[in-house]
Amino acid sequence: GRGPVIDEELARRAGAALMPTYARQPVELVRGEGAAVYDAGGRRYVDCMAGISMNNVGHGHPEVVAAIADQAGRLINTSNLYYTEPQIALAEWIRDNSLGGRVYFCNSGAEANEAALKLVRKARGPARGEVIALTDGFHGRTFGALALTGQPGKQEPFRPMLSGVRHVDRDDPEGLEEAFSERTAAVVLEIVQGEVGVRPVSPELLRRARALCDRTGAVLIIDEIQTGLSRTGPLFAYREAGIEPDVMCLAKSLGGGLPIGAIVARPELSEVFQPGDHGSTFAGGALVCAAGLAAARVLASPELQDRVRALGAHALAELERMAAEGLVAEARGRGLMLAVDLARPRAAAAVDGMLAEGFLVNATSQRTVRFLPPLVIEREDLDAMLAALRRVLAALD
Ligand code: PLP
Repeated sequence: GRGPVIDEELARRAGAALMPTYARQPVELVRGEGAAVYDAGGRRYVDCMAGISMNNVGHGHPEVVAAIADQAGRLINTSNLYYTEPQIALAEWIRDNSLGGRVYFCNSGAEANEAALKLVRKARGPARGEVIALTDGFHGRTFGALALTGQPGKQEPFRPMLSGVRHVDRDDPEGLEEAFSERTAAVVLEIVQGEVGVRPVSPELLRRARALCDRTGAVLIIDEIQTGLSRTGPLFAYREAGIEPDVMCLAKSLGGGLPIGAIVARPELSEVFQPGDHGSTFAGGALVCAAGLAAARVLASPELQDRVRALGAHALAELERMAAEGLVAEARGRGLMLAVDLARPRAAAAVDGMLAEGFLVNATSQRTVRFLPPLVIEREDLDAMLAALRRVLAALD
């Protein structure tokens, strides 16, 4: 294969200037178009990560680029002390396509979960200070979101955590019921757990969570930050799970590549936050909201969603053939959110091998490789990725 090249001087500068929070792939990306990205040497890679599901529209989508260029030339941001139309239009779009209540904007997924936690605390009061989340779930790196994140390794160096969070397994509806008490204010969950390697939460647990929240008045918060905006096929994954949240958290692909987060609530929870309760200087700026509205319109297209379903089913069938042949231990997928578990802890080597072949994928653990291509990926690029995966896995020692 054609090996990636990273300029040694650039890597040295990164090491000297950036806190080492990320283990980066040795490639410098300088340009993107659709599902393709190019490195500094002009090599083409098929992006099968989409910025961890941030670039669902693909790179340089003409409608998103035009919206950004147009808005950037007129007004970028004003803070929330004034009205701007793009913010209102994006809030209307989210409201009208989901829970029917109002929207609060922030700048990231973690911040969306923080906002949901504050909303629930204010709505349900100090006597109901507990929140239930799922083991293996991922909700972000800030303190509230980290407390929700059911991965002890990510919490360990930062204890003590925010108190009052209990975790139950994604396939344990009985455990969920047992964890409930009169102190429970909310349940927070993903429909498919992304960061732990694309693991769907059991339908029975989802139904039980909805029923328990209905019975007790606890708030059901669904984190659609990774699954949202047609990643799994439907506009939001909850739509095919047969339940509706009381609060939904969005981020990632909602900004068309620019940083944004949002929560949307049912109408009954739309007036919990009052002036002074919460906020952010940057949040919901005109530029990011104009980009977001353009991206949201692209991603809500039924034709695009049909493609996601068809391409996702096609890719999963091929990954399942690899499992049947013993090349991988297990394949999982929902739409274009896919992963394979390897029989041995060689995921990092597989990711390196894929990079050398010209494909960006990532490892969510030592044994799991994940695929999150832009939803506009062409069938040929997806097939080329699957063929490369076969070669790379077959060559692993
Ligand atoms: N929630 C989920 C389900 C996520 O997958 C992520 C990021 O991977 C987050 C929250 C955190 O989002 P952000 O990185 O924008 O803070």
